[in-house]
Formats: sequence, structure tokens, C-alpha cells
Amino acid sequence: MGLAEIKERIAAEAERVGRAPDSVQLIAVSKVQPNERVAAVLDAGQRVFGENKVQEAAGKWPAFKEQYDGVELHLIGPLQTNKARQAMELFDVIHTVDRPKLAKTIARLAGELGHCPRLFVQVNTGEEPQKAGVLPVDADGFIQECRDLGLEIGGLMCIPPADEEPSLHFALLKKIAARNGVDGLSMGMSGDFETAIAQGATHVRVGSAIFGERDYG
Ligand SMILES: *Cc1c(COP(=O)(O)O)cnc(C)c1O
Repeated sequence: MGLAEIKERIAAEAERVGRAPDSVQLIAVSKVQPNERVAAVLDAGQRVFGENKVQEAAGKWPAFKEQYDGVELHLIGPLQTNKARQAMELFDVIHTVDRPKLAKTIARLAGELGHCPRLFVQVNTGEEPQKAGVLPVDADGFIQECRDLGLEIGGLMCIPPADEEPSLHFALLKKIAARNGVDGLSMGMSGDFETAIAQGATHVRVGSAIFGERDYG
């Protein structure tokens, strides 16, 4: 279990670049991990977790939430509009708002439910066809569209292409956030969270470095 080590590395990198350690929130990405490993990380005191599938999260988190106080759940995977209601009931933060239809659905449901998770817009910084996220060129317009719907955008999120230098993507995300007056930056995973912190990440999403490799078998 690498939780303590990851927390130390986050604090050390923040300090190195002159940031307060608590300006970076660690999201422990628990997708696909066996419940024993998740429980161990909860027992170690971690309360902020990320999942990429609504269904999977709905299967395991209600029970954990009964057992542990103060759990905060982040949705970091693509969201279909027909799962938006369930997602808004389960998650505290949604990192993957990425298209007008979804934004409109969330705005409507926020009215019905009387609450709305914190919202991040996902940007497809690498313009990869297989990846979700609004294209960089469309980001300003989409953020404005969300705001016009009454949605507050708390941050931007990106997943850099696997084979490219992540810092270029982190820098681009930061630039888009700055010119739109958005504070949160969800960027950095097990392999590059320190790079992301140096570039201003406020949320790092770390899975395998905490829990061990995921077994999809
Ligand atoms: C799985 C996942 C992560 C965590 O990846 P690791 O390499 O295991 O740290 C982070 N962000 C997203 C969007 C993911 O789907």
C-alpha cells in the first residue's frame, strides 16, 4: 500500500515548487481494485476517491460510505446522460463534463435534485479521437455555455496522450483555465503527478501507485 509514500511525494513536490502541500488534493483512484485494498486505504485515513464508471461505483461505495464518515467521491470517467441522475446522487465532484447535451442534462437535474456536484470540464488536450473531452479550440465556448446554463465550473481536467510529454498538456490546460477564470486543475496520474504539481495541479488522480496494479482479468 503506497498511500503514505504518495502523500509524502506530493508534499515534497509542492514544497519544492513553492506551493502549500494542502493546495494539492489527492484523489485515490479505486476503480477495479478489490474491496480489501480500498478498505485498507480507507483505514489509513484517505477519504477522497475516484471512480471512472458510475455502475461500478454504485456497486461498492454506498456500503463504504455507511462504514466510513467523510468520504468524497469523484467521477473521473465519461458520463452518459442516462446515468447523470445516478452520478449526481452518488458523486461529489464530476470531472468529465464535456458536451452541451450533458451540461444541459446536469443543469436540469440540478434543479430537480436541489443540489449539484462540483463540476470540472474535461479537455481533450491531445485531440485524440478515441478520448472524451472538449477540444482545446472549443473549450472557452463550452465553459461559457455551461455558465450560461447556471453551472459553476470549478476546474478543468485532462488525460495526456500516453506517448507524449505530459507537461505540454498540463501547460495547455493551465492556460485554458487561466483565461477562463477557472481555479481547479485535475491533472497528473501515477506516472506524472509530480510534473503536474509543478505545473499547478490542484487535484491529482493516483491509482496504481497507491493500490498496486489493476487486475482486469
Ligand atoms: C485510471 C485513471 C487514473 C489513475 O491511473 P493510474 O495510472 O493508475 O494512477 C487517473 N485518471 C483517470 C481519468 C483514470 O481513468
